[in-house]
Amino acid sequence: MSLRTLSVKAFLFLGLCQVGRRGLASAPELTEQPKKIAVVGAGIGGTAAAYFLRQEFGPAVRIDVYEAGTVGGRLATENIGGYEYESGGSVIHPLNLHMKHFVDKLGLSQRADVPSRMAIFDGKELTFEESEWFIVNVLRMLWRYGLNFLRMHLWVESILDKFMRIYQYQQFGHCFTSVERLLHAMGGDSFLTLLNNTLEETMLANGFSQAFINDIVTPITRVNYGQSVRLPGFVGAVATFYEVNYVGESGPAHSLYDIVIVATPLHQDLSDISFSGISPPISSHFPGRYHQTVATLVLGQLNVSYLGTEQKPSDFTFSDILTTDSKALAINSLSSLDPAHMPPNYRQQPASQTKVWKVFSHGPLSELQLQELFLSREQVRERRWLAYPNYRTPQRRIPPFILHDRLFYLSAIDWAASAMEMSAIAARNTALLAHHRWYSQTDKVDQEDLHTRLRGEL
Ligand SMILES: Cc1cc2nc3c(=O)[nH]c(=O)nc-3n(C[C@H](O)[C@H](O)[C@H](O)COP(=O)(O)OP(=O)(O)OC[C@H]3O[C@@H](n4cnc5c(N)ncnc54)[C@H](O)[C@@H]3O)c2cc1C
Repeated sequence: MSLRTLSVKAFLFLGLCQVGRRGLASAPELTEQPKKIAVVGAGIGGTAAAYFLRQEFGPAVRIDVYEAGTVGGRLATENIGGYEYESGGSVIHPLNLHMKHFVDKLGLSQRADVPSRMAIFDGKELTFEESEWFIVNVLRMLWRYGLNFLRMHLWVESILDKFMRIYQYQQFGHCFTSVERLLHAMGGDSFLTLLNNTLEETMLANGFSQAFINDIVTPITRVNYGQSVRLPGFVGAVATFYEVNYVGESGPAHSLYDIVIVATPLHQDLSDISFSGISPPISSHFPGRYHQTVATLVLGQLNVSYLGTEQKPSDFTFSDILTTDSKALAINSLSSLDPAHMPPNYRQQPASQTKVWKVFSHGPLSELQLQELFLSREQVRERRWLAYPNYRTPQRRIPPFILHDRLFYLSAIDWAASAMEMSAIAARNTALLAHHRWYSQTDKVDQEDLHTRLRGEL
């Protein structure tokens, strides 16, 4: 990856001239190495794609990464009181193997665990308070929701088991031309059903109670997806190349590429990339909008009485307050934040102390709402994200990974689920697709029954 081009402020644009274009399989020159590959977007998806492209195509190919805003995209921090705090994506599951690999590769380390406690707020009072004692939590859950918790654990495990198959497929070089095929290869029809039914429908069908879904599952989806979820441009290809047009530090420029990967959502309000001269034409915006999530980081003292509790602030040690689906609520969640790089001997303080809180909400918080939530505010930082697709069921048609012969769309994966690991999985899939299509290796693309066939290879 070229570090120089990473800093380029790029304005994209697309145009593809069909004249003289040849079919991929019949183009003998394509059995030679590609010379130049462009990746548009330097979020985790685009940077991971550059990494995997390097693995697939070797050191000789030039890989340029274009970024219109800030490297990192939806991963970002805010500096408050001299410490960095995450305002975008922050949590990696221990089984997110690509992300774990990047953490190791970059010599980073996992942040030390800070004990945390969760509570659930319904707009009037705290309806659930996690105890410091595991056994107390288990007994409370059993009392209120019977075996729902155990069932949830087993259900998530079985989904995770299937999800993990993708790593084996990718290890063996397999890739998929659409999000649907990728999901089907992992979990069969059951994964496609997950796409097209609401979580509530699926959970009810799997025997979960409505009370458990409302009280426990909805608050989790509200904090994770906020839901019950620049630059005018133009890339052109002449003959067998794609021409990327952009505005760099010294003005408008263009460059020719053998392969282009678009690693930013092509949706209204999010992208000014346009494609021209491509047949069949590619629309610059796919249907569907992204959902606004506002992250407000406040260094201040929480007003615990807002949460309908009579606990003294010095006794209030909940770090995460999730919320039920209540129209009256202005916030989706409220969390006490720890710095990204924790100083030695760092300990979370109770709510009586001035500390950093992160509020997620659909819209910006008004002065009045901030006054209600906080007794004092020393610093306030607001970050408005177009965070995730507005998910709905049945799921609209998911955009394809392949926009044109060697023009790929990594961010299609957002419509299955938006998370760092999903972008990394799509990055590896796209790098493999680009490689196999370039070298016409069809036996590694869209293969059926991989789970059964690869079992013998272990
Ligand atoms: C508030 C919030 C909380 C989240 N929490 C989590 C979490 O805890 N765990 C988790 O796994 N995920 C989380 N996510 C989701 C996760 O952050 C995203 O799924 C992931 O970062 C997407 O990465 P990406 O590279 O695919 O897209 P993006 O990060 O959106 O990157 C796209 C990049 O392309 C650039 N770009 C756009 N147009 C152009 C152009 N014309 N030319 C050049 N560059 C362009 C953009 O500036 C951007 O940098 C969260 C997201 C948000 C917003």
